[in-house]
Amino acid sequence: ISVFDHGLLYGDGVFEGIRCYGGKIFKLREHTIRLYNSAKAVYINVPYAQNELERFLLESIRINNIKDGYIRLVVTRGYGDLGLDPRKCPKATVIIIADQIALFPEEVYDKGIRLITSSLRRTPHDTLSPSIKSLNYLNNILARAESIRADAQEAILLNHQGYVTECSGDNIFCIKAGVVMTPPIHAGILPGITRATVIELLRTKMKTTVSETMLTLTDLYSSEEVFLTGTGAEIIGVVEIDRQRIGDGKPGRLTRQIEDAYNQLTQISGANAYDKNPCVA
Ligand code: PMP
Repeated sequence: ISVFDHGLLYGDGVFEGIRCYGGKIFKLREHTIRLYNSAKAVYINVPYAQNELERFLLESIRINNIKDGYIRLVVTRGYGDLGLDPRKCPKATVIIIADQIALFPEEVYDKGIRLITSSLRRTPHDTLSPSIKSLNYLNNILARAESIRADAQEAILLNHQGYVTECSGDNIFCIKAGVVMTPPIHAGILPGITRATVIELLRTKMKTTVSETMLTLTDLYSSEEVFLTGTGAEIIGVVEIDRQRIGDGKPGRLTRQIEDAYNQLTQISGANAYDKNPCVA
């Protein structure tokens, strides 16, 4: 990677984090679609066709002999000069890292996670749309650092109107009177692939009402259950927010059911990297 790569110099690029379960890449098509959408939003031309890129991702799993693992797909503006001018970058750089990931310690999945509300606001749509999965993660990292200083494990970011958006690297859900709620995309969130998967599982398999609605901190504090979703994090129950206990202080019953349904789905679906002609969509 060139030291003149604008991904490195300016965070000028986009990325995806993708999981692989039992040799099968979970939600591969959804991830490549989001990557191309992010790239388009920042005028980066991905130098491969989507199915070609999908083949590279499958190959990265195969040649590294990965069964359960994680892929980081990064597309940067490419190398240029030391100025900002994107026209000086002739070709986007594509990086595929096939590795393992453990975002949170194992005990978090048993005992639940503690959150704080960050003093920082989530980057608004009219500054840098949070729907773009860009390499600019300082907003998220500073919020996460704040949570660490406060002896918590994740941070909730509000938008400029004071509504809940998401955490530094995961989407957030709450449950009240059996209704599952999560902020809508226009609150200023990344349209998480795990979020969409969980919404679909709840609506179709678990016959549960899901409402995409603006939420305040008050809504979260008074919820019976709160949980986070993300490719890396998967499903994590929240047991404390701003030092206030959520529910009975343990991951909730519905959260556990969602976790089970999600884990089951990751085992049975996905594009098999070890098949000759894997089904991607
Ligand atoms: N929000 C942010 C800010 C993220 O970085 C991520 C991904 N780590 C998510 C939400 C969850 O998205 P997904 O389910 O697609 O991984």
